[in-house]
Amino acid sequence: MKYDYLIVGAGLFGAVCARELTDAGKKCLVVDKRAHIGGNVYTEAIEGIQVHKYGAHIFHTNLADVWKYVQRFATFNRFTNSPVANYHGELYSLPFNMYTFNKMWGVVTPEEAAQKIEEQRKAAGITNPKNLEEQAISLVGTDIYEKLIKGYTEKQWGRPCTELPAFIIKRLPVRLTFDNNYFNALYQGIPVGGYTKMVAKMLQGIDVHLHCDYLGMKEELDAKADHVIYTGPIDAYFHYDLGPLEYRSVRFETEVLDKPNFQGNAAVNYTDRETPWTRIIEHKWFEFGKDADGKDLPKTVISREYSSEWKVGDEPYYPVNDDKNGKLYKAYRNMADREKKVTFGGRLGEYKYYDMDQVIHAALNCVKGLLGK
Ligand code: FAD
Ligand code: UDP
Repeated sequence: MKYDYLIVGAGLFGAVCARELTDAGKKCLVVDKRAHIGGNVYTEAIEGIQVHKYGAHIFHTNLADVWKYVQRFATFNRFTNSPVANYHGELYSLPFNMYTFNKMWGVVTPEEAAQKIEEQRKAAGITNPKNLEEQAISLVGTDIYEKLIKGYTEKQWGRPCTELPAFIIKRLPVRLTFDNNYFNALYQGIPVGGYTKMVAKMLQGIDVHLHCDYLGMKEELDAKADHVIYTGPIDAYFHYDLGPLEYRSVRFETEVLDKPNFQGNAAVNYTDRETPWTRIIEHKWFEFGKDADGKDLPKTVISREYSSEWKVGDEPYYPVNDDKNGKLYKAYRNMADREKKVTFGGRLGEYKYYDMDQVIHAALNCVKGLLGK
């Protein structure tokens, strides 16, 4: 069987490309080395709860066209992400907003909060932030940096905050309003019935082979199609010839508990350095109608996330987008540009800290490019 496109990876990038190319009349084969579709957004039901197997995934976007696009494949609930930070048992609201500032400093008005941040920024002597630590202090001051950012970030990235790029902390909003919504997004929610159902709908009618490692049978698979879309790690494609890029990996420890309510919220971040996990997810709170009184569901499912340095053979989750890796990625990118029959895409193929909406947006553009539109 000859295909127009071989798509490596049944995650969001691969699934959107497959859908769009198929709808444009192209014949696609999707392969994934995992046992399931969905890539990192994969969810599966445990005790009647959709469990986010590769970490909490909350869909949020300002891109109206992407929001409209995903509605074709799922109904989204009105979940709004409002994580709680636990610093040695002290609880703070996230992202950084008036509830956080009130709890931290006792300030009541936005002016008092702004003044406190300005005082701490000035005392630290930061004018032009050059790394994550300086950026964080200049955004929220030293107290919040010390209690809510430093420990969490160093656990998450395994590097001191002074060696991390400033942009990572800019993902988080800072607001002088009483608003615990973690995202500055016009649209937000979780697909009812889980992400796997949504991706299955994207892949409807398309040939998918699971347990299929492209790099292990490249020649055979390449022969099946005119063009390849590769969404695996770019350095793995080139046998790590220039040395491996750095990634962070995550280990998830999932437990079913015989109680209806463990932490009263979908996400609790442990922001001290001593607690070994970064966060605990209680999956039932992503869904509605799974109430705390246990009438709906007497059990709950939680996952602790442990961050670790990636090594060849582990699952890569987060690209480490610092200068050193940026340079190495560029060198791989040059090699990739010479592969005329292959398009590299997605979080691993482009080595980019992409959110889901950005991945979908990039995949839609990629297909337009391939179809010459
Ligand atoms: P992936 O989902 O990684 O898919 C790539 C696929 O390629 C995988 O299934 C893999 O098995 C397959 N593959 C790789 N190599 C091979 C090979 N050699 N042969 C065959 N198959 C191969 N985004 C948000 O918008 N909101 C969130 O709340 C959010 N939370 C996140 C939490 C965590 C812990 C992580 C890690 C990411 C989170 N993201 C979130 C980002 C989101 O997961 C990604 O943007 C998105 O899933 C990337 O899709 P992708 O298709 O590029 O990659
Ligand atoms: N962060 C933090 N404390 C928190 C949550 C996040 O310091 O309680 C920092 C940390 O460096 C993290 C970054 O903000 O990597 C971005 O957070 P986000 O929640 O976007 O990370 P992700 O969901 O991608 O893991």
